[in-house]
Amino acid sequence: MAKCWKCKEPMVLGSYLDRYFCSRCGSIVPLPAGTNHFEVFGFDAPACDLEQLRERHRELSRRLHPDFFMTADEQVRSASTINISAVNDAYRCLSDPMARAAYWLDISGSPLGKDNSSVDPELAAELFELQELAMQMRAAGESPSGRVAGGAGDSGGNSIRAAEALDDLQSRFDAEITAAVALMDSWPQAAAERPGALYRLKKAISRASYMRTMIRNLKDSLEQRWQRSVA
Ligand SMILES: [Zn+2]
Repeated sequence: MAKCWKCKEPMVLGSYLDRYFCSRCGSIVPLPAGTNHFEVFGFDAPACDLEQLRERHRELSRRLHPDFFMTADEQVRSASTINISAVNDAYRCLSDPMARAAYWLDISGSPLGKDNSSVDPELAAELFELQELAMQMRAAGESPSGRVAGGAGDSGGNSIRAAEALDDLQSRFDAEITAAVALMDSWPQAAAERPGALYRLKKAISRASYMRTMIRNLKDSLEQRWQRSVA
């Protein structure tokens, strides 16, 4: 068990705050290197209650505020800097469901890029078509008449299609994220069920990440078209 660097007594971890302040002598304690983002907030990985996350982040930011340590010795100031940066890094990651899932996959030894269970063919084909659509819209914008030469680019019709596709994609993206969050918040306790859960999470996040790229792409194309129409 880790010992307090000031009073040398074993650290007792009751609440999440006990990682930061010795519950015996009250001294600030630097977080051990390798503390993961979930541990930083005392969560049982990969679960994370967003309401609690915000509360704990607020509380830690208050207690670790540099003003409290300005006159402290070098060691204590350095501990407060280490802690506050760990708290902020962890907060940034955990408050974004996709970043949180990717991080969890990483620390579980199953990162997104590894053995890439490539995106399923149906989604790939669909996204390929949308990619073409986005490219057509851009090409139409670049031609002097606002249309692709030869009249092939009905950019008005294309933007309606793009707007519909965007709506549809956005709601499916949200559904993947909701599923990923639900999966992480009820992570199986039984070791035998974990590989299956990791597989499902990876799949959801990988699909969501392809969708997100396409959502940005379509939004850009629509935005450009909108700007041209008001120019
Ligand atoms: Zn102590």
